[in-house]
This record gives sequence, structure tokens and C-alpha cells, in this order.
Amino acid sequence: MTVQFPPDNPERRAKRAHIKSFGCQMNVHDAERMADLLAREGYEATENADDADLVILNTCHIREKAAEKVYSEIGRLRVRKEERAAQGKETLIAVAGCVAQAEGGEIIRRAPTVDLVVGPQSYHRLPDLLKDARGRKTIDTDFPDEDKFDHLPLPSKKRLMARGPSAFLTVQEGCDKFCSFCVVPFTRGAEVSRPVEAVLAEANSMAEAGVKEIMLLGQNVNAYHGVAPDGSVWSLAGLLESLSEIDGLARLRYATSHPRDMDEALILAHRDLPKLMPYLHLPVQAGSDRILRAMNRKHKAADYLRIIERVRSLRPDIAITSDFIVGFPGETDADFEDTMRIVREVGFATAYSFKYSARPGTKAAEAGDAVPEAVKTARLHALQALLLEQQNAFNAATIGRTVPVLFEKPGRHAGQVAGKSPYLQAVHVDIPKGDEISAWLGRIADVRITELRSNSLHGEIVSPVGEADRGGWAA
Ligand code: SAM
Ligand code: SF4
Repeated sequence: MTVQFPPDNPERRAKRAHIKSFGCQMNVHDAERMADLLAREGYEATENADDADLVILNTCHIREKAAEKVYSEIGRLRVRKEERAAQGKETLIAVAGCVAQAEGGEIIRRAPTVDLVVGPQSYHRLPDLLKDARGRKTIDTDFPDEDKFDHLPLPSKKRLMARGPSAFLTVQEGCDKFCSFCVVPFTRGAEVSRPVEAVLAEANSMAEAGVKEIMLLGQNVNAYHGVAPDGSVWSLAGLLESLSEIDGLARLRYATSHPRDMDEALILAHRDLPKLMPYLHLPVQAGSDRILRAMNRKHKAADYLRIIERVRSLRPDIAITSDFIVGFPGETDADFEDTMRIVREVGFATAYSFKYSARPGTKAAEAGDAVPEAVKTARLHALQALLLEQQNAFNAATIGRTVPVLFEKPGRHAGQVAGKSPYLQAVHVDIPKGDEISAWLGRIADVRITELRSNSLHGEIVSPVGEADRGGWAA
């Protein structure tokens, strides 16, 4: 991630930027895009916030805990900023992401050490905003007319390769669903799909750089409706079909989806597109229709079960994953039991589960009938125990099977590489003696799964397949 500068030009001496991301994959990817932009501005990335001339906290507002983390982080940075100032060094502190969007100027009132507040739709303006922030406190939480993706540089081949063979590509942002608990429609704005041509161009340049797997991102990615050059509107299924024709790309995934937008064409894509991995993250949130209605989810438990049944009838091995909220206002023991029932009925490969957290500005935050904290905790524990049991069962069922694994990074131990199965399970293998780890990164090989350890599967390479013979990632 190092950017080179002429050593004899002090004006162009590299400054260091540290970006810390909280929250979802979209935030992780936003941080990558900001890093690309900052590299063009002469910043090199540093892992060490204490050593940085610019620190960006890329924040998450989805739950109260996530938002509060930001203020404790700012408190720590304030001390370091003062120490650096005593050494004559400037430190700019920026708050980006969804807390920035939701709280705007309030952040600077509460934490005056912050120099810049920038919302997720304004990252492309960072270079100008940073200049402004040197002279005065600066806030940009606009939803600008221009498309930020038109202004964000595409990452260079070198930068893409540094991130590994699996990459994110944002195709859709924002949300119009207004689930009653969720801040996303307020922090990320209305649902917008990127044009088909822009997505295909970015995917092609990724494939040319050697990327093997693309995860299409969107807050509501299966609501994708991008306009093609001929004026037609493409759904996510159409986009996936076109992406799967790109040479070199071996794997496609997408996240996060809404049950309402799981149309038949997308379900069929799981049968018809070999590059589309057998993995579906489809949040259900709750199993009680009464709670789903109060959540404004626009689907019932039975709708969800019908989708799962249909997908599994076409792709029986698919890994189904989900999100759950427990302790939504008014949730009774019987409602919670409905959630446990839907979990038992579906059998999830893995899932995320959270205690309901009231978010300012959302409909549910105005409702009374809060569930006591102790009840939320007990329900979360019960749900997570069941989900863990299912996850272990799903992973254990892979033992003895041979699955293609895309190797992404060195493993925890010497001589080991870590990769992902088609079901997004982490898999570790020992490479043949004498081989360089780098020669295996970016390859896909058949791996016989032999063992399930705490968080990952272990296996042995059976035979390299597909891309495996084309040389390693770093070659
Ligand atoms: N678009 C996705 C969907 O339709 O389910 C969800 C995206 S949201 C960024 C990620 C997850 O955070 C949600 O699925 C939900 O489980 C959780 N979440 C959102 N708001 C929450 C809240 N107020 N309290 C607890 N969890 C919440
Ligand atoms: Fe939030 Fe997802 Fe509901 Fe949109 S669909 S409001 S992102 S939970």
C-alpha cells in the first residue's frame, strides 16, 4: 500500500493515513475506496493510528454499542493528537460513515478534537474536504447529485492484488424498505443502483488484475435495478449472468438480500450459474408474523420458508445464513419461540444475531413495550446456542467431502494457506513441502476436508483444479 514520491520534493513527502472501519462489509469496502483516493493524494496507509497524520474513523450506527465505540476511540485519539502537536506535528481526525451521517455537527460539539465529519455519500470529496478541515471544522453530510463512484478512482492492479484474490464490488446502496428498527434508509439514503456498464467495467478490471472472486455488495443488493446502455433495466440475476461470462472470474457472491426481492430469476441463477457460489445470506430477523409486521419487514415467516424451500429444491447443498433481532419491542415468549421454530425448520449454516437496539429517528424507537435487558440477554443466548449447534453440524457435514477452495492468505502456521470453500467456510491446508505460500494464493484447488477445529475446517490438497495451474497470486 506504499505510494512512492520523489525524495527531493519535500512538498510531496508521503503523509500517513490510518482508516479504522466499524460495522458491515460495505464499510470495509468504503474504507478501501477512501484509501485508493488518499493514495492518489499522496497518503500512504499505516496500521498504526498513533503514527498517522490523518485518522479516519469509518463508523457504524446500526446499534447503539457500535455508535458509542466511536466516542471512546476519539477520546484516545485526542490524547495522541495533543502529544503530536507538542512535537510540532499536525493530526487531522475525521469521522466518516453512518454515525457521521446521523449525527453531523453534533459530533464536533461533543468531541471538538474532530476536524472533519463526512457522510458515506461524500467520500469522493475527501481531498477538498481535508484541505478545508485544515482551516476550520468541516462537515459534509450531503446526499450529492453527482455519483460518488464516478469520482472515486478505480484501484490500481497493484492495490487490488495487495487486497487478495477475493474482492468487494458495490452495485447498490441505500434502502427504501424502512424496516421500523433500522437506520440505514436515513444514513445511507434512498436505494440507488449503479449503472450496468460501470459495474461490468469495474468487474472486468478486477478480473484483469487477477481477482478470482467478487462479492457484490449492497444494503439491499437483490433490489438491484441498474440501467444498461440500451436503457433496459437489469435485475441482479441479469447482472450475475453477465458477470459470470467474464474470463478469469471464478466465483460470484452477493450480500445482503431482502426476502421480498428474492425473485424467481435470482433463485434460478443459483441453479444455472456455476460461478454463483452456493451461499445465500437472507436475513429473516424474526419468526413471528406479529413481530415481522411490527418490524415492517413486508414478508411473513411462511414467505421466507417458501423461498428457502424453492432455493434448496434447485441447489440442495446451498448454505443459508441469516440475521436475527431478539427483544424487539413487544416480543413475547411465544414470539421468540416462533423465531426458534423457524431456525429449527431452516437449519442455518451460520447466522448473525443481535439484541434489539433502539435507534434515534426510527419508528420502533418511538414504540413503548421495551423488552427487559435480562430477557433480551437470555433470548440471545438461547438463540445463539441453537445457531452454533447448527453451524457445527453444517461444518461437520463437510468432513470427508472434497470441495474447491480459493486460497486467499497465509494460514496461522508456517507452511499453511487459508482459503474459503464455496459455502464461505474458512479452510486451512498445509501446502506441499518446498512450495512458496505466495505461489498458492489466488489458486483454487480441490481440498478433502479432514477435520473441524474451533473456527475453521482443515483439509488436504487433493488436486489443483481450474485456475490452479495458472500460477500464484504474486507471480
Ligand atoms: N438489508 C438487510 C436486511 O434486510 O435484513 C440488513 C442490513 S443491516 C445493515 C444488518 C443487520 O443489522 C440487520 O439484518 C439486523 O439484523 C441488524 N440490525 C439493524 N438494525 C438493528 C437494531 N436497531 N437493533 C439490532 N439489530 C439491528
Ligand atoms: Fe435496514 Fe435491511 Fe430493512 Fe433496509 S431492508 S431498512 S437495510 S434492515
